[in-house]
Amino acid sequence: MSKKHTFQTEINQLLDLMIHSLYSNKEIFLRELVSNASDALDKLKYLTLTEEKFKNLDFNPRIDIKFDENKKTLSIIDNGIGMNEEDLINHLGTIAKSGTKSFLSSLSGDKKKDSALIGQFGVGFYSAFMVAEKIIVQTKKAGEDKAFAWISDGKGEYEITPCQKDSQGSEITLYLKDEDKNFASRWEIENIIKKYSEHIQFPIYLHYTHINYEGEGDKKTEKKEDKIEQINNAKAIWKIAKNELKEEDYKEFYKSFSHDNNDPIKWIHTKVEGNLEYTTLFFIPKNAPFDLYRVDYKSGIKLYVKRVFITDDDKELLPQYLRFIRGVIDSEDLPLNVSREILQQNKILSTIKSASTKKILNEIENLSKEEQQYKEFYTQFGKVLKEGLYSDFENKEKILELLRFDTTDKEMLSLKLYKENMPKDQKSIYYLIGENKDLLKASPILEKYAQKGYEVLLLSDEIDSFVMPNVGEYDKIAIKDASSKQALEELGLQEVDEKSKKDFEELCKSIKEILGEQIKEVTLSNTLQSPVALVGEEENAMMANLMRQMGQNPISMPKNLELNINHPIIQKINTMKNNEEFKGLIFLLFDSAKILESGNIQNTKDFTHRIYTLIQKTL
Ligand code: ADP
Ligand code: MG
Repeated sequence: MSKKHTFQTEINQLLDLMIHSLYSNKEIFLRELVSNASDALDKLKYLTLTEEKFKNLDFNPRIDIKFDENKKTLSIIDNGIGMNEEDLINHLGTIAKSGTKSFLSSLSGDKKKDSALIGQFGVGFYSAFMVAEKIIVQTKKAGEDKAFAWISDGKGEYEITPCQKDSQGSEITLYLKDEDKNFASRWEIENIIKKYSEHIQFPIYLHYTHINYEGEGDKKTEKKEDKIEQINNAKAIWKIAKNELKEEDYKEFYKSFSHDNNDPIKWIHTKVEGNLEYTTLFFIPKNAPFDLYRVDYKSGIKLYVKRVFITDDDKELLPQYLRFIRGVIDSEDLPLNVSREILQQNKILSTIKSASTKKILNEIENLSKEEQQYKEFYTQFGKVLKEGLYSDFENKEKILELLRFDTTDKEMLSLKLYKENMPKDQKSIYYLIGENKDLLKASPILEKYAQKGYEVLLLSDEIDSFVMPNVGEYDKIAIKDASSKQALEELGLQEVDEKSKKDFEELCKSIKEILGEQIKEVTLSNTLQSPVALVGEEENAMMANLMRQMGQNPISMPKNLELNINHPIIQKINTMKNNEEFKGLIFLLFDSAKILESGNIQNTKDFTHRIYTLIQKTL
């Protein structure tokens, strides 16, 4: 009895895109189907090693590809885990995968641009509808009796019906569109498999017909012969000795493994023997994966135990801040039936994790020796690396060394160089955090540092306000917020003398009365160039950070308003009467200081109103 089902709405959206796709790289559909077949084989292999029920199964994992040029069909066959009726509905009728979901949510409605994303996201099974007008999946789940066929033309509905199939596994048959019939050819298939699936761990066999011509002239006859050849090398490349591998081998493996079309910028292949025995092969991609900053990003590391695939869904195999790394960890010491819970707190894995982390950080350091190369790496991954400052205490110093900063007069500066350039009397490393670099550069606080010839790091990543206040020090030098009282005191700039303090005492009082809780205190300075500046305290920044870590919105602490007693505006204001006009000017000065500090003010209407009054007066 056959049953009709409708696709989940999102799938229809996806299918619509596939069917109308003008994507030039359609061939990736084969990569997707082969990787599904390989996953299915991995799953069954795992069961035969861990479950009593499957221990005696005669299992030679393999993938077969058949095609028929005349009928324009192409079949991908595996003897893996297979699917039952429920699996078919859940896996080929609904989207559970986060990758596909993010793909859909990034669709813009611009068909051309959207189809360019297909290759980047690798949208799995459904990509077959780019080339097929109909697909039939015949499948039987390992250990079950019934087989089912799933049939669809990708237009809203699919049908499931019982079918005949002897062995476990799946056979996916594509009925190719006329314009895509070229995929039903020996050379085309061989080329695509070589390109994307060379390093799939299971043998891929291609079935084809070889034609022999016998006799001469009139007596010439055709003799057809069916042949099968293996078209990939089916080796776990990470288990091959380094000196037997060529650059191309790594690159090809990376591409088939990560579905990234770019070459990786670096790979790190390590075999460890001794107390623990394991092999790791890590790649640093050229570009950041699309989901790097999503909470549901997909882990790029696959865990194997003695070459048996265990999981690609464990985000703890490497620290989170290295989540852009792609690769393989293969342990000889873990039991095959490690459960998720065990993985979480497994000693062996945590040893591998910390050794791998050090290794990767060292390689990134090597990368940093070549400036241009590092710049490219850093624009992609610098921000995520910074997260390590609060999550990986053990490697904090190393991470600090890898970070690069824009400063008051340089770009991409390392702390090491910053330190080397420090004038003899400079006590700390200073940074200023703000919305963007232009805004930061306009900050009056910097005038003081410029006077001393001190460079200041200008930080505008969102994460900076989160991590920097807690870094503490680099290479035994304290790292301080340049706008904090503590930092400013270190500048040892000339104090305001007693006489001036007296002269401005009244003014300070009046200003505090006018601005009230918006500021902490009014202070005096003879080192500013601007008339006023807002100056905070180190503890406030730390407090704000602490609150953020506890998941609360930090309340912004009032800062000190600093007056430049040498500035004509301040000197003039000091002679004014405390009236409405005076008040208006104080508010204006305060707002200007706020704008320079954060780029925005609370009450823009009052602000502009005061500006208009001022303009009117001068006209
Ligand atoms: P993904 O492979 O990323 O999960 P796909 O769209 O490629 O996404 O496949 C969806 C699901 O369909 C797979 O997760 C798997 O459960 C099932 N599936 C696809 N092909 C096969 C197959 N050859 N054998 C068994 N299950 C399969
Ligand atoms: Mg898939």
